[in-house]
Amino acid sequence: MKFNHSVHLDKDKCMGCINCIKRCPTQAIRVRNGKAAIIPEFCIDCGECIRICPHHAKLATYDPLSVMDDYKYKIALPAPSLYAQFNNLDDINIVLRALLKMGFDDVYEVSSAAELVSELSRKYIEDNMEKRPFISSACPSVVRLISVRFPNLIEHILPISAPVDIAASEARKRAIEKTGLPSEDIGVIFISPCPAKVTALSDPLGYEKSEVDAVVAIKDIYPVLLSHMKNSIDDEEDMLTSGKIGISWGRSGGEAGGLLIDSYLAADGIENVIKVLEDLEDQKFTNLDFIELNACSGGCVGGTLTVENAYVAKAKLNRLRKYQPVSRSHLDGKQLDKPYFEKEIEYTPVFRLGKSMKDSIAAMAKVSALLDKFPGLDCGSCGAPTCRALAEDIVCGRAHERDCIYLLRDYIHRISRQFSNLDSLSGIGGDYNDDYYGDDYIDDYSTDYVDDYNNPNESDYNKY
Ligand code: SF4
Ligand code: SF4
Repeated sequence: MKFNHSVHLDKDKCMGCINCIKRCPTQAIRVRNGKAAIIPEFCIDCGECIRICPHHAKLATYDPLSVMDDYKYKIALPAPSLYAQFNNLDDINIVLRALLKMGFDDVYEVSSAAELVSELSRKYIEDNMEKRPFISSACPSVVRLISVRFPNLIEHILPISAPVDIAASEARKRAIEKTGLPSEDIGVIFISPCPAKVTALSDPLGYEKSEVDAVVAIKDIYPVLLSHMKNSIDDEEDMLTSGKIGISWGRSGGEAGGLLIDSYLAADGIENVIKVLEDLEDQKFTNLDFIELNACSGGCVGGTLTVENAYVAKAKLNRLRKYQPVSRSHLDGKQLDKPYFEKEIEYTPVFRLGKSMKDSIAAMAKVSALLDKFPGLDCGSCGAPTCRALAEDIVCGRAHERDCIYLLRDYIHRISRQFSNLDSLSGIGGDYNDDYYGDDYIDDYSTDYVDDYNNPNESDYNKY
């Protein structure tokens, strides 16, 4: 299995402090040989490790602003969370006009496409009430999490394309009609609040290929836009194509609000999202039509590529939407190119310990036996987030028992006792005693453990 990710490690900056291993919601990080490593199949690109790392060693991959130079005609797709970054902004048009001033040829608001998605979702839910509750498909981290950890909930994912994808395809269509340029000369550039959206565009779930050509970070474009916004204040061109519903998608509860239903739940922050999904799996919610889940606290305004505090940004977005009409974009019979998922989301069993059920049961028994040996402190000193994670790593061949410092201490004590016994034997002139050298743990220690630590490049640790 191949997994694309936008979150990665800068090894030079990593101090091996283990702060990140405890915070990762999918236990995707290990610290080995003094450096963190992400297990790619476990990572959902939620960005929690970027937030927590005190040494700024976890980074997101995205495009530089200079990517604009690669295209003859460039279209900006601003996420609604972009509008929430600026102080004292009372007219979103100032941001949209500044995007043109900084070099974009056109702007297509993602919030405008969000209003179309809200309309599609209302109709889809109404027509498919037997499949409720529906889970929002807008947050790629959440969709990835469900696909690897909650197979029973996959059928509840709302199979409607994300606003950014609908915006990209509509914007490209409009540009081709307007300019006559071939598609490859047109650059559709998303201004993103989070790394998960970067991953989703390179490795889309639910469809074959994204129409987005590049992704730039809100935090990179923010200072450039600020300088152009000063010159956009007095212009009068009205470019706004979204209202309350679309703008609200930038914060938690916005998508659910746009469905105009009462029976919904909105949760944000990856730990809360996991709790809701676990309860949903246990059938604790029996009367909900829709569940909106955002990996970031506060919703997209809390993405790691933004500049403003998530809750301040949420308040700003609420203020900005106040004097807007409910909605400015409507389907009105318009045919969208890819309104629904093109392919089903499949369960990816990355957490399974064995290839078959029989193997997994046998592996679980080994994990239990190992857990009986471990102290159960979940101290993280072994480089795994919990004793169970270390036990699973050992069973999967990714770690050794003696990565546990408590077991290592016992081994060292036993070895030192062995050597002092040897000393005393030689001291009284006794015969060389084969039994001591034939002992299991001395053998084990000398061939296996010492080898790995002396030759880390050849050890199992470097599997990541
Ligand atoms: S938090 Fe993780 S990535 Fe950052 S320095 Fe510590 S171990 Fe390395
Ligand atoms: S991005 Fe999220 S899932 Fe991936 S390693 Fe970091 S904390 Fe874990």
